[in-house]
Amino acid sequence: MVRVGIVALQGGVSEHYYMVRRAGERIGLGVEPVLLKKPGDLRDIDAVIIPGGESTTIGIVAKRTGLLDELREAILGGLPVLSTCAGAIIMAKKLAGTRGAQPILGVMDVEVHRNYFGRQRESFEVDLNIDFLSGPPFRGVFIRAPAFTDFWGDARPAAAIEYNGRRVYVAAVERAMIATSFHPELTGDTRIHEYLLSLAKK
Ligand code: GLN
Repeated sequence: MVRVGIVALQGGVSEHYYMVRRAGERIGLGVEPVLLKKPGDLRDIDAVIIPGGESTTIGIVAKRTGLLDELREAILGGLPVLSTCAGAIIMAKKLAGTRGAQPILGVMDVEVHRNYFGRQRESFEVDLNIDFLSGPPFRGVFIRAPAFTDFWGDARPAAAIEYNGRRVYVAAVERAMIATSFHPELTGDTRIHEYLLSLAKK
């Protein structure tokens, strides 16, 4: 049985909850999703999901409860993580496109630019080729999405799109950390969640 913790302070929590359970069913692995709200909830957790939503809200509440510090320590210790959209913002060591400081985990060697696609393209969908997946393209659902604008250390891009004639990175990986600009939990495609489970089993 793999216990997957989902940071449950704000945002798309229930979508990830059902998605990770379905991913387990698909690969024949028992998965128990666990909602994470406070320090201590991380005990015996094998992998973590940080959902999309509003990164400032998630960060502020997680800091207040103490979950942010405990989660940072666990991730730095190797706990596998899937972070989506606002979750990816919280994972980054460096932020752009944001006013002032906001509480973050700051664990991934990437710069993330909030709301990168601006007002004209608040939401859109596009097919993606993702480095760590095989099979058909993955449908990327973008909602006021960030983009990955710099990488260093062990972090590397895992997917890109063409935007305004430029190559823009929309997924990143570093060791057992996965971050996406888009929302895999809003598709019927469980492959990214399956990939997280494969990291948790090791
Ligand atoms: N724009 C949001 C933020 O900056 C992220 C949007 C999302 O998670 N769908 O936190």
